[in-house]
Amino acid sequence: MASANPQSPPNTAASCRDASDPQSLPVEAARERILAALQPLPHTQMLALRAALGRVLGEDVVSPIDVPAHTNSAVDGYAVASADLPERDAVTLRVVATARAGHPIAATIGPGECVQIMTGAPMPPGTDTALMQEHVERADETITVGAGHRAGENVRRAGEDLAAGQAAIRSGQRLLPAQLGLLASLGRTEVRVRRRPRVAFFSTGDELRSVGQSLGPGEIYDSNRYSLYGMIKRLDLELLDFGVIPDQPERLREAFEIAARQADAIVTSGGVSVGEADFVKQILAELGQVDFWKIAMKPGRPFAFGRVDNAWFFGLPGNPVAVMVTFYQFVQPALERLAGLDAAAIHHGPSTLRAPVAHALRKRPGRTEFVRGVLEVDAHGQWRVRPSGAQGSGILRSMSEANCFIVLAHEAADVEAGALVDVQPFAGLV
Ligand code: AMP
Ligand code: MG
Repeated sequence: MASANPQSPPNTAASCRDASDPQSLPVEAARERILAALQPLPHTQMLALRAALGRVLGEDVVSPIDVPAHTNSAVDGYAVASADLPERDAVTLRVVATARAGHPIAATIGPGECVQIMTGAPMPPGTDTALMQEHVERADETITVGAGHRAGENVRRAGEDLAAGQAAIRSGQRLLPAQLGLLASLGRTEVRVRRRPRVAFFSTGDELRSVGQSLGPGEIYDSNRYSLYGMIKRLDLELLDFGVIPDQPERLREAFEIAARQADAIVTSGGVSVGEADFVKQILAELGQVDFWKIAMKPGRPFAFGRVDNAWFFGLPGNPVAVMVTFYQFVQPALERLAGLDAAAIHHGPSTLRAPVAHALRKRPGRTEFVRGVLEVDAHGQWRVRPSGAQGSGILRSMSEANCFIVLAHEAADVEAGALVDVQPFAGLV
């Protein structure tokens, strides 16, 4: 297949010949199909406020009170009546009391009078404006105020953050420190959260040994179960580790059956590539409804999605980088949806920023490529992005040294040095 750019750099590895297979599914279409199939799990539970940190909110929180509860001063200074403020020159007002936070003043303040007030103290009756102490001159029991003040300045009105009955936080938001603080400001001691989805995961392959075992000829350590553990754990979900399952139909069937009984979702690695899929396909056809896709992407082409009994199933390729790329592009948004996260809070794939690329990149139109990249500031203080090293789909170091994906769009051809490319920073994604 001819490249769209005749000056493409010759130094990058040749790509798969069948990348533009018309049967293969574009990344966006695969993600949309998955998200369209899934609904949030319905279960919720009540948790004490602090225990809810990081969880997904399972109710629309309505404010039972005005926040702030009373009209109060935003500054340390003097509460005055705007009617007393001078148009020009200056006036002198008598300081008749001091108002501290938590100590409302009941008496009404008369004309020509004012109250020394601390931040957060309720505005005394008869006053409507708070002057910063730096803006007045204090002498004994009086202050002198110049012109140029605005009626109502430095006053926080009752209910200006949230009026009683107004929605404070919508269901489907993740409860981060700001949300906990907001809930506490409403007086909440407990909050309803979504139950965490239970995710079973295992690796498949006769060649795999678990860490702690010794390696025989042709064997490798099962690394995918560790990257999967990390990726699922970071989503604040419950994990069920089913270990390494050898390529034996009975063992696989048993693992799928047990996992489907215990989990809301099953994530596996290996066994979906062309050479192995038939084997797994047959078992899954008996246990559920699973589609085997060829996705127009690199890395991560084979992918399986569907139901095994009552659990959702995500069959990832075996290559360690492909596992991580497909997890972030498809499984993470899917699990976030199951967890009840609102659409706007789900990490959908679209890139979040663009940056110039330091070197030319080879790119074949007809598939989305996820180059592991380093987004950095160059010697001139400008952002730029470069590949993080050798990009083979088995080379996990390309992930461990990266801080972003460089996303080369489905239709894009070779990219010249300096061209703007889409970047998905890992911060926020991972
Ligand atoms: P598969 O998709 O099962 O054909 O595997 C593709 C490649 O990924 C092979 O080289 C496997 O040895 C390797 N691989 C599969 N599973 C794992 C795993 N859990 N950890 C590390 N490498 C794996
Ligand atoms: Mg395998």
